[in-house]
Amino acid sequence: MNIIEIIDKKRRGLTHTEEEIASLVSMMESGKAHDYQISAWLMAACINGLNMDETTWLTQAFVDSGKRLDLSDVGGVVVDKHSTGGVGDKTTLALVPLLATCGVKVAKLSGRGLGFTGGTVDKLEAIPGFQVSLSSAEFLKQLRRIGMAISCQSKDLAPADGKMYALRDVTATVESIPLIAASVISKKIAAGADVIVLDIKYGKGAFMQTLEDAKLLASMCRQVGLRLGKTISTVISAMNQPLGYSVGHSLEVLETVQLLRGEGAPDLEALCLCLASVALVGAGVQPTLEAAEEALALALHDGTALEKFRELVVAQHGDPYFLKDSALLPQPDKILMIPSTNTGYIANIDAMEIAKAAKLVGAGRLTKDGPINLGVGVLLRKLVGDEVRAGETLVELYAGDADPKEALQVLKAAFTFSTKPVIPPILIEEVMLGEVYRRKESAQMEAV
Ligand code: URA
Repeated sequence: MNIIEIIDKKRRGLTHTEEEIASLVSMMESGKAHDYQISAWLMAACINGLNMDETTWLTQAFVDSGKRLDLSDVGGVVVDKHSTGGVGDKTTLALVPLLATCGVKVAKLSGRGLGFTGGTVDKLEAIPGFQVSLSSAEFLKQLRRIGMAISCQSKDLAPADGKMYALRDVTATVESIPLIAASVISKKIAAGADVIVLDIKYGKGAFMQTLEDAKLLASMCRQVGLRLGKTISTVISAMNQPLGYSVGHSLEVLETVQLLRGEGAPDLEALCLCLASVALVGAGVQPTLEAAEEALALALHDGTALEKFRELVVAQHGDPYFLKDSALLPQPDKILMIPSTNTGYIANIDAMEIAKAAKLVGAGRLTKDGPINLGVGVLLRKLVGDEVRAGETLVELYAGDADPKEALQVLKAAFTFSTKPVIPPILIEEVMLGEVYRRKESAQMEAV
């Protein structure tokens, strides 16, 4: 079938065969199909959907388009965690050292931020000297030596997804459950970890606007993973307000350190413990979520996780003195305090508006390779449910040298108040544990 027939078939809402999906991806890769033709197919797929078979074949074709990282000789069970992106989500920074103290290895390939979501790699670059770009050999060596490594997503893992994602980004076709599932799962399979935990966000500051859509995406990710031989656990968490207190690169690094000192914001700590527990149970190193949470909370509160974070920074050539002197991190030009005009309780903090304010002062990228200011951002002084008096500081804007007027207006409008006490909304909506990982050797031995 040629590319026009493939586009036409999806436009008419029909179902592709495995060969058609494979040839669509290979025509894109070889340049036989032009960007405008792939874009036309993407719009048809976005509107008419892909079923589970088609999504699985697309995922497989993405994986087959590049290399697969071989983690078989790093020793131990290797865990990978992925978030579908949110505002103030610094969980990866904390989870990598935290999990590495609790009996698993953590291999994390991360991306840069685009649009309203922040990228782990950008956040790490706020640490002076931190090397975010490791070669495969360096990544594996570090994983063997200290049990954890974070690096930029390598371009040769699932490169066809990279191409298709770039087109989706500029053709309003990102928000499709099967396309997101294929994109995320292909990269996770290519990255080679034994245990995969996905944090699927829903709400105002997420790709998935509703809980129903988040559940569909989670289920599709688990099923596609299973069909391709990977057990995937999913957590669905709310993203209507930012996670924790800060949005911005230096600010989020500092908040991670605070969390690893056992002094984290309650929502951030709860989500980190939940995701990490799911990973430990999935890896088979803890019997239950409760037992895992106990071990993790101990590592968080007795300084072990913070020490491991220090080890990660040193291993990737970062200067660990920022842990003592935060002035070593990129700084803003000015800090503007915004007082509350109301007395009462914080009813809501709009995640998208906070992200918009952070972007207006330079914390977000406007284009894929555009510049960002690592020292700017937003620091919340109050979270949803907190009591506030008129005149008390509500939020601080860490601004650059540009006029912050618009960002200040956006920030003020992000808050809504209530005169009655407010119960903070549910953060973790669903936890679905995948099958517990069992080493291939032992499975084979049992078979014998
Ligand atoms: N993250 C991805 O990697 N792919 C998507 O399609 C959406 C979010």
